[in-house]
Amino acid sequence: MSSWRDTTCGVVSADDVGRRMTLAGWVDTRRDHGGLVFIDLRDYSGKVQLVINPERAAEAAQTAHEVRNEFVLQAEGEVVRRAPEAVNPNIRTGEIEVQVDKLRILSHCDPLPFQIGEEVDELLRLRYRWLDLRSDRMQRNLRIQHTIVAAIRRQMDELDFVDVWTPSMTKGTPEGARDFLVPVRLQPGRFFALAQSPQLFKQLTMVGGLDRYYQIATCWRDEDLRADRQFEFRQLDFEMSFVDREDVLDVMERAVVASFEGVGRGVPPTPFPRLTYEEVIRRYGTDKPDLRYGLAIEDATEVTRDSQFGVFAGAPVVRYIVAPRAFSRAELARLEEIAKEWGAKGLAYLVNDGGEIRSPIAKFLSERELEAFRSEPGTTVLFAAAEEHVVSRVLGGLRAHLGRELALAENTPDAFHWVIDFPLFERDEDSGQWTFLHHPFTAAVSGDEDRLESDPGGVLGQHYDLVWNGWELGSGSIRIHRADVQQAVFRVMGMGEEEQRAKFGFLLDALRMGAPPHGGFAMGLDRFLALMAGEPDIRQVIAFPKVASGGDPLTGAPTPMPDSVLKELGIRSIVESDISSAGN
Ligand code: ASP
Repeated sequence: MSSWRDTTCGVVSADDVGRRMTLAGWVDTRRDHGGLVFIDLRDYSGKVQLVINPERAAEAAQTAHEVRNEFVLQAEGEVVRRAPEAVNPNIRTGEIEVQVDKLRILSHCDPLPFQIGEEVDELLRLRYRWLDLRSDRMQRNLRIQHTIVAAIRRQMDELDFVDVWTPSMTKGTPEGARDFLVPVRLQPGRFFALAQSPQLFKQLTMVGGLDRYYQIATCWRDEDLRADRQFEFRQLDFEMSFVDREDVLDVMERAVVASFEGVGRGVPPTPFPRLTYEEVIRRYGTDKPDLRYGLAIEDATEVTRDSQFGVFAGAPVVRYIVAPRAFSRAELARLEEIAKEWGAKGLAYLVNDGGEIRSPIAKFLSERELEAFRSEPGTTVLFAAAEEHVVSRVLGGLRAHLGRELALAENTPDAFHWVIDFPLFERDEDSGQWTFLHHPFTAAVSGDEDRLESDPGGVLGQHYDLVWNGWELGSGSIRIHRADVQQAVFRVMGMGEEEQRAKFGFLLDALRMGAPPHGGFAMGLDRFLALMAGEPDIRQVIAFPKVASGGDPLTGAPTPMPDSVLKELGIRSIVESDISSAGN
């Protein structure tokens, strides 16, 4: 037991009546009733009420008059029952209070920029994060993240995974983002890249015979910050040898289940549904649909082929969704705007409000068409007619918008699912060059390897994504374990022999020296934790996050560096910077 306290504030109970105790914590509130002073003393475990009576403890009363919110105190006294009318049945310490006879101020507190737990601007919360961390919200969130990480570690350990630390400072790892660079004093003009993921190292642990690797890995990606993105983030990263896709998905599902059990939340049923990429794009217009609600996209291309409505007849693809609401004219105008933002030229609709069908296009539609689009009263059929990818984008966008707007996901169970069978390559819109969808180390589905170079666009990859309630939690794949196949993929991406050697020579060498078949996965931990904690963004589950500008409001980083420091690193800044804040 520490000398500062016998126990924590929130656990003192009626069982302790009559005991002398030493407690320590923060002043949550202080009420001065002329003579008696009441202080709620708080720590992570809860609050306990202190009473200081000047007639019994004159010195303590004198001290009590000096204290302010968030002072740190040590109080000694006897646990007594509260008067019946003062009992608070809602908290564990509600039946008792502590009659204080000794009170010591361990630490003072300046006037607060905001009260603990007060809803204030997030920048202010982050500037004074040490205060914000004292709030119930942040205490809860950081403890949830601890519980979940601990549960995941136990689960991985049980499955014989070995926690291996891999370097942060490395060569670029192609995960589709920009690298953060680290200059090297010993080799001026040269840079390490901070690992965008441990991808190649984890593959090398498989070549190294580890069999099962995992890590709660920190990754760095230079991308714009968003609700679900920070420059640095953590992922549950793992890799396994001699496995197929289902083995990998099973491990990931177990880690999710262990996390849910860890926080005592109803476990989602496993195995999670597996949907193909082709299917989710066609049915939901996105590769990460929220499947807590239906609103699936239906096809109408065939039935509208000879339509009298020219827009339908002339479009390569016509599809629709049926929204569970008879929209007003104004609402439809708003939806049309949204559809246009997603690339539509207009928005055709049929409103069924229980009477006539309301629609400017109904008069052009045949009996057969109207029959095909018949919907329940109180619904609206919304159409998109264009090239397939535009139709998917528009209806996918409308579906997600309506899901939010009509609160379709409210009170529905969690929806986890896998997306599988992604294409291996896509065309880069700017260069027209084939590029990877995930990273270039993903294997083609069995049978497609031979077509890698002759028909890259038609090759499917053994890649899989995990989606929870419309959030992409992570990705993984079965990897290429043969150097010749890896080189074929590099060639499709336009990489010549020399560039392959310069960038990935070590990998090609390793793949030629007994590389076992292997595959793995990485789940974005912060996203998972935010969803587990019911938070709208990952900053709420990270102790010291950065903000959208790319800075850290607490320390003021990033800061400019003096020329002398840069020179030593072989760097000259071409940006005029305010050096006065350097090194702060
Ligand atoms: N390295 C990948 C990522 O960070 C995950 C994987 O393929 O295992 O997204």
